Amino acid sequence: MRRTEGHLDRDPNPAVSPKPGMAAGFPARYTYWVSIRMPRSVILSLSAAAAALAAGLIVPPASGQAVRQDLSGRVLQFDRTMAAHDSTVDIQVHPIRPGVYAAKNRFVWNGWVVLPEGILVIDGGYDARSAAALADTIRARSGNRPFKYLVVTSGHVEHVGGVRTFASLGARVLAHPTVIAALRDSLPAGATSRAETSLVLGPPERRVLVRWLGHPANSAGDLIVYLPRQRVLFAGDLAWYRSVPWLVDSAFDYKGWIAALDTLLTPRFAADSLVPGHGTAITSGGEGIIFTRRYLTEAYDLAKSRVSWNAQVKDVYGWGELGAYEEYESYDPIHFYNVRRLYMLAKGIKTPGRARAGMVVPKRDAHP
Ligand SMILES: [Zn+2]
Repeated sequence: MRRTEGHLDRDPNPAVSPKPGMAAGFPARYTYWVSIRMPRSVILSLSAAAAALAAGLIVPPASGQAVRQDLSGRVLQFDRTMAAHDSTVDIQVHPIRPGVYAAKNRFVWNGWVVLPEGILVIDGGYDARSAAALADTIRARSGNRPFKYLVVTSGHVEHVGGVRTFASLGARVLAHPTVIAALRDSLPAGATSRAETSLVLGPPERRVLVRWLGHPANSAGDLIVYLPRQRVLFAGDLAWYRSVPWLVDSAFDYKGWIAALDTLLTPRFAADSLVPGHGTAITSGGEGIIFTRRYLTEAYDLAKSRVSWNAQVKDVYGWGELGAYEEYESYDPIHFYNVRRLYMLAKGIKTPGRARAGMVVPKRDAHP
């Protein structure tokens, strides 16, 4: 796995165990819950682990080995390091502005903003353990302030995995209506949540805008968090940087995503610091937006041209390469899933996409 570039500011003690009573048992149940939906044989290498876990494809095997397969199920390689890597929480903190932080929580970007009433957290980690580690990291940096809000930018598993933890700590959960609907039954007793598509928080000097850009894009309910004064944009999974975007959500909307990215490129969302949902670095200006937009259009144009050549979708590994992206995070196999989906889209065939684990949240009765 690539290291984060830029101003690495590693937390000196990033590995933190969950607190007693904090979403106890969630990781174990969660692993089981994923495993009953995916074949145990679909276990990918460390190089694809981040996106594959996001895709709900990973089931760490008891043996501690990982297997990488291609789309046809052919085993490409073993990787014994994944299980070991999985056992630690690796958080890299990037102070962006006074009171504004980004944190790469292994393979997904989180963040937080210090507000007078408490901390606003942007995505709470990919599971309860990473959420607990993130909470401790925030306290270490920003003091023992209350966790006031948790903005969930996507319903995907790596964005909702920490919801129970931060809700238990008192944060009000704010997410798109589709995400709130999926989450509500899994929130702990007494938790507060609100469906939001447009919200303004914070004092004028640290104004925080939470917005849905009006289109299904990466998913049905992508939210962004923007600080106009600080020119900081937390783009969630609308932006991926040096990482191949996931285009296979059931609600993925190519045109909607392009429109959302074009909105983010307008002066309304001008940013000097863009924190992507996934990727290897925080970028300046629209670089992350442009990276994502270029990948979307190039992958779609490729798929469309192969439709016109009468290429067969089963041969996607033969015709679906996009060499400019093959060195980036998660290229193999996510890119090929993407191209296959775009091929069907170009053919005018509606496909259901892949079930995304995070959109099916364990019910409360599974977590007494
Ligand atoms: Zn994501």
